[in-house]
Amino acid sequence: MSEYCLPLFERFPGLINSLAYVGLTDLPTTVDRLDRLAADLDVRALYMKRDDLTGTLYGGNKPRKLEFLLGEALRAKASHVLTFGAAGSNHALATAIYAQRLRLKSISMLMPQPNAEYVRRNLLMCYRCGAELHACGGPLESATTRSRIYAATTMQMTRHWLREGRRPVMIPPGGSSPRGTVGYVNAGLEMATQVAGGALAEPDCVYVACGTLGTAAGLLLGLRMAGLRSRVVAVRVTTSEYANPASLQGLAVAANRFLHDLDANVPLLEVSNADVDVRDDYCGSRYAAFTPEGMAAVRRVRDTEGITLDGTYTGKTFAALMGDAADGRLRDKTVLFWNTLNSRDFSSEIAGLDYHNLPRPFHPYFEAPVQPLDNS
Ligand SMILES: *Cc1c(COP(=O)(O)O)cnc(C)c1O
Repeated sequence: MSEYCLPLFERFPGLINSLAYVGLTDLPTTVDRLDRLAADLDVRALYMKRDDLTGTLYGGNKPRKLEFLLGEALRAKASHVLTFGAAGSNHALATAIYAQRLRLKSISMLMPQPNAEYVRRNLLMCYRCGAELHACGGPLESATTRSRIYAATTMQMTRHWLREGRRPVMIPPGGSSPRGTVGYVNAGLEMATQVAGGALAEPDCVYVACGTLGTAAGLLLGLRMAGLRSRVVAVRVTTSEYANPASLQGLAVAANRFLHDLDANVPLLEVSNADVDVRDDYCGSRYAAFTPEGMAAVRRVRDTEGITLDGTYTGKTFAALMGDAADGRLRDKTVLFWNTLNSRDFSSEIAGLDYHNLPRPFHPYFEAPVQPLDNS
């Protein structure tokens, strides 16, 4: 979009020709110092990485991954991309928005989740962007979900293959393949550049939400590549079957190999168990079920800094930071909170859209009440 060169390409120019990329974002995002909140919470220094402002069409963490994932779909001359998520998936929505912008069609396989206002908004916005939506599987935690999604996906892949003569390009949940994870390797290098430029002191810890792991794994790798020692505190917001230290470490190693295979100048790093910090104590009962601690964090950040967080990801993550601060563990620490939430508002785009246009399995999200804590 601009003349800005990603730190990843600056550092490893060999990747410019070997790694597919399409510019979708307004990078770098700024780092804000939150002095009032730091004083309130008893944190020595508190910064927020404003990835809520990654793009003008959509913000949050997904556009950084999609620059590489959709770049590859374009390179492969795909006409369709197919991805996965929960009904209110931010990833499915970001994919729908940027696929439309690139004249690709998007297909989303969506699983059930607890109801919330943002689920309605994201579904309507996906529809408005021309995404083909399929309800499938069962709750994330259910044993039969995986095989049901597999069956439904195989059917859609075949249907599109017969119709268009080409299979859609598959993008995994959350965009967290090694290729998508590269977006956050770059983000880690971007933060390192900002540290070197004096925008912030080197953080002792970086709090980030952890769902499908690509964000935390990429950051970990990018920060280590830049020689920073900041500890990545990955706050788990989904079942530990998916989000656990071994998977996080595995994805960081896979992304590292992926980049090294494209450009041998990318060093192969040791990512050890000791580097990986997955926090389990703020997830609550399940993915997308809001928690009192998470919603208290949402209110705290809104009331002190006027910045919006959410109940599924960033509220739970900030709650972990607040909990550690309350225990006095951040009194002498420089802390960075990585805001992964999209900040763009779609109220005007979806005003007047009728949910009856969506496939029937999604209607209950509009007819049943939202979860009790979703009352903001
Ligand atoms: C998807 C998402 C995350 C989780 O990122 P992963 O790379 O899947 O771990 C965090 N915050 C928000 C707001 C998201 O939409």
